[in-house]
Amino acid sequence: MGRKYKCGWCGWIYDPSRGDPSHGVAPGTPFEELPDDWRCPACNAPKEEFILLDMEGVKGL
Ligand SMILES: [Zn+2]
Repeated sequence: MGRKYKCGWCGWIYDPSRGDPSHGVAPGTPFEELPDDWRCPACNAPKEEFILLDMEGVKGL
């Protein structure tokens, strides 16, 4: 269902099925619905630095 996004700074991946519970983001929250001030929990990169992961490309690796 939800699309995964990868941090362009550190490579951390946001998985909407897991959310980011340590920052109050419930599992099942799409990346698009994260608050504007949400940042990468690993390196503090802003949302706009995240890149949509191509699921087919991931499978092919
Ligand atoms: Zn990051």
